[in-house]
Amino acid sequence: MKDAGRKRILVTGGAGFLGSHLCERLLNDGHEVLCVDNFYTGDKANIKHLLGNPYFELLRHDICFPLYLEVDEIYNLACPASPIHYQHDPVQTTKTSVHGSINMLGLAKRLRIKIFQASTSEVYGDPTVHPQTETYWGNVNPIGPRACYDEGKRCAETLFFDYHRQHRLRVKVARIFNTYGPRMHPNDGRVVSNFIMQALRGQDITIYGDGSQTRSFCYVDDMIEGFVRLMNSPDDLTGPVNLGNPNEFSILELAHLCIELTGSSSKIDFLPLPADDPRQRRPDIALAESKLNWQPTVALRDGLQRTIEYFKRFVG
Ligand code: NAD
Ligand code: UDP
Repeated sequence: MKDAGRKRILVTGGAGFLGSHLCERLLNDGHEVLCVDNFYTGDKANIKHLLGNPYFELLRHDICFPLYLEVDEIYNLACPASPIHYQHDPVQTTKTSVHGSINMLGLAKRLRIKIFQASTSEVYGDPTVHPQTETYWGNVNPIGPRACYDEGKRCAETLFFDYHRQHRLRVKVARIFNTYGPRMHPNDGRVVSNFIMQALRGQDITIYGDGSQTRSFCYVDDMIEGFVRLMNSPDDLTGPVNLGNPNEFSILELAHLCIELTGSSSKIDFLPLPADDPRQRRPDIALAESKLNWQPTVALRDGLQRTIEYFKRFVG
């Protein structure tokens, strides 16, 4: 028999960067967590500290295949997120977003429970509207190297909203902007992990293009707070809701900050810009501010310092 108020929550992709922080948060909030992951990019080390907790359960499973179990809520985070990971097996990436969402939506429909989708700012593609609001439909190349991720996530959003309209399913769709922090994979090729690892090792910092492209970086704790607030918001708030830090930095500024905070002697190396790399990205978070009373609280400098401390264990 469960305690009143204690929910049994399924987190897909729970052994990944964001998923592991979410599992931890939900356990701390007094819930039971079932973490499902196929360890494609996730790592047991991310959840090792949770394995002894009697309210935490781990299941190795690929969400592209159906899953039958009993839970009270689902957070669907399973999907490789860094460009080198999601482009490594692009067909599997699309399958995870599309077949995986169908399976998780089917589960939520059978159980009549709420389901949260980790969507992405990539649905805006290389945006022609700046900053990006939820009403912008995006500018995505459907046949480029990023399409397996971008179009997969767009199709997942379509599925969520069709299940909502067709089956009255309660859905919560978050459009997540670049998030960083401890437990990012040190070799995932994302800009924050690359720059910190390179700076700590005294290697050249690899800037793709001239570094004038921008991103807005959100610290993981702020993001997880946004997830939980969205999931617990009134049912009519389906989203999509942008979650991210509206402070925008150029990639060159980020490189200089990583060099400064690590005290590194690294130099900067300018390399070719990958295809379809978005020029600029900054969330308009007015909706999250007004409906969730949410905004990021951790400044980039502070969040980078905490992330650098974590990455030090991989160097030396
Ligand atoms: P991550 O790669 O660290 O985590 C993804 C997890 O999903 C991994 O543990 C991986 O093993 C698992 N996974 C992948 N395919 C699976 C499958 N078919 N079945 C079961 N598990 C599977 O990435 P992350 O940064 O933690 O991202 C989590 C979610 O948030 C993803 O859906 C991603 O698209 C989304 N997101 C993240 C960011 C960001 O900046 N971190 C930005 C936008 C969206
Ligand atoms: N980037 C870079 N050097 C790196 C890794 C990434 O200059 O070593 C750039 C990349 O081209 C992009 C930005 O940093 O313009 C963010 O890249 P990331 O892969 O982290 O995320 P995304 O492009 O999906 O936002």
